[in-house]
Amino acid sequence: MLREELSPEMKKTNESEEWYHEMQAGRVIKSLERNNIPAIYIKTKEEAVEKALSLIPKGSKVGHGGSLTLKQIGIIDALRAGDFRFIDFTKPEINQEEREKLFKESLLADVFLMSTNALTLDGKLVNIDGNGNRVAALSYGPSKVIIVAGVNKIVVDYEAAIQRIKNYVTPIHAKRRDRPLPCAETGSCVDCRVELRSCNIVTIIEHQRRTDRITVIICGEELGI
Ligand code: SF4
Repeated sequence: MLREELSPEMKKTNESEEWYHEMQAGRVIKSLERNNIPAIYIKTKEEAVEKALSLIPKGSKVGHGGSLTLKQIGIIDALRAGDFRFIDFTKPEINQEEREKLFKESLLADVFLMSTNALTLDGKLVNIDGNGNRVAALSYGPSKVIIVAGVNKIVVDYEAAIQRIKNYVTPIHAKRRDRPLPCAETGSCVDCRVELRSCNIVTIIEHQRRTDRITVIICGEELGI
């Protein structure tokens, strides 16, 4: 339904939600900046793509973290089509050995793009990885890291971030990928020890030394899981 077709009550509800998200994003941005991490709020996914692309110099070697958010906003296709050396490990024809090589190559990319599993109100980026390639690139390696995250990734604190990831994000990811994980059956974490466990490495970016490395773009739409 187009926005113009909404009842005045629904329109007001949507506007109030947008206002709330913008307020929350504002709080996160202030906290991130206190942690020396530049951040910006952008209303729509189209503008978020434009902003992210404007931060990537032409000809750069670009890696990414295989995120649903990045796919959803269309930036993966833009990077494939653009004037970049895009490290594309998501092509279906790539086998596991080649994929592992590309993960390693991404650690030396000029720019690395990803989303984040959670953003706390006190300005921390919380992520959990199964393989570790994504959080490795986030922590060290690429000269520039661009994070694009929907407002749905904002949580109160670290505990809420872990709760969100283990009892919401991971079960849904496991289900949609048909992964044989217990949380894909139960819908919540049972602290499993199965071979394909997705929760092997937890990282928290609390602060960064160089202001120009990680940049966070918070988009006013719900993106990813
Ligand atoms: S620890 Fe295991 S059960 Fe818990 S969320 Fe991670 S993969 Fe799922």
